[in-house]
Amino acid sequence: MSNTLELLKDLIRRPSVTPLDEGCQDVLTDRLKPLGFSEERLDFVDTQNLWLRKGTAKPLFVFLGHTDVVPTGSLDAWVSPPFEPTIRDGKLYGRGAADMKGGIAAFVTAIERFVAKHPHHQGSIAVMMTSDEEGIATNGVVKVVEVLEARHEKIDWCLVGEPSSDKKIGDVIRVGRRGSLCAKLTIQGIQGHVAYPELANNPIHNFAPALKELTEEVWDQGNHNFPPTSLQVSNIHSGTGAENIIPGNVEVQFNLRFSTELDEHIIKQRTHAILDKHGFSYDMQWRLSGNPFLTKRGELIEAAHAAIKTITGYETKDDTGGGTSDGRFIAPTGAQVIELGPINESIHKINEHIDLNDLEVLSAIYEQILINLLT
Ligand SMILES: [Zn+2]
Repeated sequence: MSNTLELLKDLIRRPSVTPLDEGCQDVLTDRLKPLGFSEERLDFVDTQNLWLRKGTAKPLFVFLGHTDVVPTGSLDAWVSPPFEPTIRDGKLYGRGAADMKGGIAAFVTAIERFVAKHPHHQGSIAVMMTSDEEGIATNGVVKVVEVLEARHEKIDWCLVGEPSSDKKIGDVIRVGRRGSLCAKLTIQGIQGHVAYPELANNPIHNFAPALKELTEEVWDQGNHNFPPTSLQVSNIHSGTGAENIIPGNVEVQFNLRFSTELDEHIIKQRTHAILDKHGFSYDMQWRLSGNPFLTKRGELIEAAHAAIKTITGYETKDDTGGGTSDGRFIAPTGAQVIELGPINESIHKINEHIDLNDLEVLSAIYEQILINLLT
């Protein structure tokens, strides 16, 4: 059995549902310390964070990952138990196989081979791990970055091992992400009997035209690097359950995934302008989950393109789609950030898996990126 596969199976056996780590970071530390990596634990509240660094020279290359996984969902629906790594038809099944313990295992063995062949490589290599990427992520990478910034430890290149690939391993890399802005809106009305509407004020009726406008708004056209900004309503709650009561309020949650054409303030202004036209009273709470970022074509993207071409023979594609990742906390420091990892088709699903060959190819790509940047 390959080194990478063996390590991945060890990690999957640990049921590290957010914010648990279940010893995954110990396993990585045990693997990398003998190669000259220094260990630093940066735990905050319920979240375990790990910073392993080899060397002090610039430039600094960082592999960023998370050891936590999303919940399994119904156990009955899994063909094999989610925390018992199982091979079927050339694939390894288990929670975290693709998101993102596969990427982690591939990177660890890539480092092992690279350091063995290039003991006097240029620059430094670091591994940053958190146990809360899939949750609210307030005590994870965002805090580790604060520590690094405070002591002027600068990241030059950051590779996030998140599942970026679409049909074939390495066919897509993410070079940026859309921003994410969440809104919680409460529209106030006056509760009353449906038979006496003149004594009540129906907030559902008042909100309906505003909802239509919000969902039809053309926020922007996107640009060369980003698709158009989109607003999606995720929850609407109202009503007492009784059929003869006009409700007193409506609660609505929506989210905007936005391009670099807009910012948080413009979106808020335009949203309030739409709502204010309709004359109902409301309360709004906003939460910015991440600003959009874009890594410009430079050493890191070039190294990734060349490595994928060398190992697989095909050209990769730059992309900015998908959900948010911890890369959003690294990009503001000025680092070049890309995401490159397994095929994302099965992530967060029942029967999550990774192709065994993909795992080896991914590890070879990671090693080639290190060669391209640090030798
Ligand atoms: Zn992930």
